[in-house]
Amino acid sequence: MDAYTLKKKKNSGEYHLFKGRMTEEGCTSQQLSVCGKMDKSESIENIFACEEEETARKKCAKIGRKVCSMCISHLYTSYLITDQHNSNS
Ligand SMILES: [Zn+2]
Repeated sequence: MDAYTLKKKKNSGEYHLFKGRMTEEGCTSQQLSVCGKMDKSESIENIFACEEEETARKKCAKIGRKVCSMCISHLYTSYLITDQHNSNS
């Protein structure tokens, strides 16, 4: 299952989303944010960690404009694709 972590970027203070996988010990996150603009090493804080896609979407919507728009749009794009896939099966 996919896991999402929202990290705060140093200097800009923008929040970027990192995709990862749920594991038994917690979750992993990729080296680069989903938009590719932030490296994990630039993180100063986790806003949330290891959330499912649905929860991540809701939390990002609540946080609002501080969250990188490219990262947000990825959440909604994959949601639509998953939705279509489900209705076909
Ligand atoms: Zn981003």
